[in-house]
Amino acid sequence: MLFSFLCWWLGCYALLISIYFGLGWYISRDIKTTRLAKIQVNKSLSPELVRRDIKQSSKSLFLIAFFVGTAIWLNRHGFALVEAWEPSFFSFVFWLLVSMFLYDTWFYWVHRLIHTKWLYKKVHLWHHRSKTPVIWSNNSDTLVDGVLTQSYWVVAALILPMPTALLILVHKIYDQITGMLGHAGYEYGGILTMPPSPFAAVTFHDQHHEYFNCNYATQFLFWDKLMGTLHKNYSETTAHNLRSAKCTADNGIKNPR
Ligand SMILES: [Zn+2]
Ligand SMILES: [Zn+2]
Repeated sequence: MLFSFLCWWLGCYALLISIYFGLGWYISRDIKTTRLAKIQVNKSLSPELVRRDIKQSSKSLFLIAFFVGTAIWLNRHGFALVEAWEPSFFSFVFWLLVSMFLYDTWFYWVHRLIHTKWLYKKVHLWHHRSKTPVIWSNNSDTLVDGVLTQSYWVVAALILPMPTALLILVHKIYDQITGMLGHAGYEYGGILTMPPSPFAAVTFHDQHHEYFNCNYATQFLFWDKLMGTLHKNYSETTAHNLRSAKCTADNGIKNPR
């Protein structure tokens, strides 16, 4: 049992670190060649902070892999507190959507919590030192920050009647990719994130790093809309950035703002 747990932990780490460096390398190269319009124009992250983010992310992903690996292991050994649904296409899609909504809810409220004065200084300030985020900034967190946000996967595996452990893996891969793109500094959201879409564009989390006290959720807009924490210029800025990104990608030229 311990061996299978270690296999899942290390396997998840291998997968997540491959996505981290694979997508990180691809996007770093892509922004040089297609030159999509930068969100925070004329601002950049210092090379020291980029190195710091890569180093810290490589460590944090080990912790994240622990939670995802534990969640998968619990599901596969039938340790959920509720009886799992029969595996089918419908039950997979249904619980994936439920899990996406719950994770966004978890993330929003945990994120608001770590923005309170004391916790912010002790726990979350590290992540915000990268005020102009880059693709490598996504997993640059302190240990407590990682425990608070990523323990979701274990709780979800215990309380949701997930039909298969694959669901946890698919959701985490989706979260890893969208989370990284959310820090890219360039608008990669595409038409699906054009306001009034409920999906968060890259501009959403970029504004969180730039202005600090807005846009706390991770993949959807409804909690920020409901709680009045969505940046007041989010829709307008995102629409502009999405149009600029498309224009520069099509023409291969930098679009002045
Ligand atoms: Zn924050
Ligand atoms: Zn961030």
